[in-house]
Amino acid sequence: MTPLDVLGPGGLLAAAFPGYEHRPGQLEMSARIARAIADDERLLVEAGTGTGKTLAYLVPAILSGRKIVISTATKNLQDQIARVDLPRLAAIMPRPFTWAVMKGLGNYVCRRRLAAFERQSVLVRDPAFDRLRAWVDQTSSGDRADVPDLPDDSPLWREIASSPETRIGGRCEHNDRCFVTAMRRDAATADIVVANHHLFFADLALRGAWPEAAVLPPYETVILDEAHQIEDIAGDFFGVHVSTMRLLTLARDLGRVDVTDPLRAQSAAARLQGTTGAWADALRGRVPRATRMPRKVGVGVGAGAGAGEDEVRFPLSDDLWTGTVRARYHDLDGILEEIATWLDADGQTVRNATRSAPELAALGRRAASVRDDLSTLTDMGRGTRAQTDVRWIVAGPRGVGIHAAPVDVGPRLADAFGTHPGAAIFTSATLTVTGSFDYVRQRLGLGDTAAEAVYPSPFRYERQALLYVAVDLPEPTDDRFPAAAAERAAELCRITEGRALLLFTSFRNLRHVAERLRQVLPYPVLVQGERPRHALLAELRDQVGSVLLATQSFWEGVDVPGEALSLVVIDRLPFAVPDDPLTAARISRLRDEGNDPFGAYQLPRAALALKQGFGRLIRTRSDAGIVALLDGRIARRTYGRTLLESLPGNCPRTESLADVVAFWSRVRPDAGAAEAAARGAIERERRAPEGAASDVAPATTCAAEAAAQANRTTG
Ligand code: SF4
Repeated sequence: MTPLDVLGPGGLLAAAFPGYEHRPGQLEMSARIARAIADDERLLVEAGTGTGKTLAYLVPAILSGRKIVISTATKNLQDQIARVDLPRLAAIMPRPFTWAVMKGLGNYVCRRRLAAFERQSVLVRDPAFDRLRAWVDQTSSGDRADVPDLPDDSPLWREIASSPETRIGGRCEHNDRCFVTAMRRDAATADIVVANHHLFFADLALRGAWPEAAVLPPYETVILDEAHQIEDIAGDFFGVHVSTMRLLTLARDLGRVDVTDPLRAQSAAARLQGTTGAWADALRGRVPRATRMPRKVGVGVGAGAGAGEDEVRFPLSDDLWTGTVRARYHDLDGILEEIATWLDADGQTVRNATRSAPELAALGRRAASVRDDLSTLTDMGRGTRAQTDVRWIVAGPRGVGIHAAPVDVGPRLADAFGTHPGAAIFTSATLTVTGSFDYVRQRLGLGDTAAEAVYPSPFRYERQALLYVAVDLPEPTDDRFPAAAAERAAELCRITEGRALLLFTSFRNLRHVAERLRQVLPYPVLVQGERPRHALLAELRDQVGSVLLATQSFWEGVDVPGEALSLVVIDRLPFAVPDDPLTAARISRLRDEGNDPFGAYQLPRAALALKQGFGRLIRTRSDAGIVALLDGRIARRTYGRTLLESLPGNCPRTESLADVVAFWSRVRPDAGAAEAAARGAIERERRAPEGAASDVAPATTCAAEAAAQANRTTG
């Protein structure tokens, strides 16, 4: 049997689902992937939105009969594959196959930690805990994705979740009924393992140096979806991190442990807590004045390490590791050494310990490991890693952390993948820049070892979408930009009567625009952070007319088909934040190597991020709408051509709101209620005196041509 027999005209899917339409791009892609698996190839595959990429790799993976790991960047896609796509295929495939889901340990309940938490809180009744407790009694997975309405940052979940540090494995008295053990057992025997990049790269980083620490079972082929995120995620796993959260969790667990000498444990926990606080205060005292400001966030492909709204990130240099910071570090090192020695790693010398011996030994190992990591981070400035890694500090309301990661992940990935002999397929809707895979090859260390294939989107962007560029707004760096962007965003939302997703590169702009839109728009205005992501997206989808404002993660993975998302507004071009320590180190490394960092790194990265944001608009063949870019530099600067040429399809472009109105009237002729707002927009545009946009350079010839094309299209 071939993929064609499943996906093609008259195939198994067509027979099972009346109305199923085969997609030529999907058929070609699945045949190419089948060949790559059979020939143990490395393959880069860009599949435009609507190609049907997931089935295009799942079908050949299943038919190959090999042990295959599918790795995704997000848990959403992981769940979609495991809960929707694979069950659907299992129902129609003639030969049975099995699959298992593997997520990071933090996604599963740890029965030992649950029991400890229950013992501790026996006197306090918490209805939220009672609900969670009842769920644990009936779940077969222990996976937090199955808990209804669990907030993303639930503190209760943190108390009872498993983690690499707290898991004690075979020596645990709950091991027979452990959700993590069951997850690993299922994965060991399954044909298809659905993992995510965090787990995959944790495994890859460990596998070479320490095979017995491997996270995934042995496999023959890996298919990495959402592969544009690999560089950022893999960088974390080739790096080292120590945070106050890690130290305080160790102190908390030490204070709670069940020993016959609880006073000693509690005293050590209290001292660790106090020393951690003093160390964090010393580090906070070194935050450079210039960074004590609300920061611009990274987005999409340029997300870097995903800083939060109130975090500052600054480089860690040897000068900083002096004085009070060094003194507090030595205090911390001392207390960690004392704990690690007391709770000897093999558990043999733990005095007076009874059933807690494995738990104490695990705590001892955690203390030793965090001590090692701190020492690595401290000495890095002098060691060999000084040449390859960059160190930085993150300080925010939730704590302080020190991080180190390779400046260039490519060589580490090349080494790690070098140990993997089977096929490796890297796929995403956004891998090419102006049609070339060069950037992604270089960043992932693939060199010329991978073949490539592109399957364009079947959507007709030339009819379904319009790109509007607001060339008359001030430059995004101008103080007047946020106010002007807010007014233009409101105007655009009036044309489409809401139905909009507004994507920002800074929280500052987001807040400014949100405040204004709430004053002037009659539609529900939803703002990232005010409610969980899934609730915001559900409201955008279900309450047609809603307007959602977001940054960072919403540039990717938002899939709202239909009229509920008819307008995507992007405030500015998503260049990686140049003062982010990791980005700054990459720029400086490229410069030192004689390369142009803007052309080799910043521009292609921005092009992929913009492509992701743009891709939120058209999700099906019947969708239609507008992408509005409020950053006119794309039309004025020479690099704009690279960004425009990287966008999917042949989407017409305009700089006129009148064209937006005309386009909207064509694609949604029933949208009569928007007419008044639209007339207002056109009127304002007509009334604008010649040269009103005084701080704006003239539109390029390219933009003028595109506007003419837009008129032809909409006419
Ligand atoms: S085996 Fe590990 S994860 Fe499972 S219950 Fe025990 S400590 Fe928790």
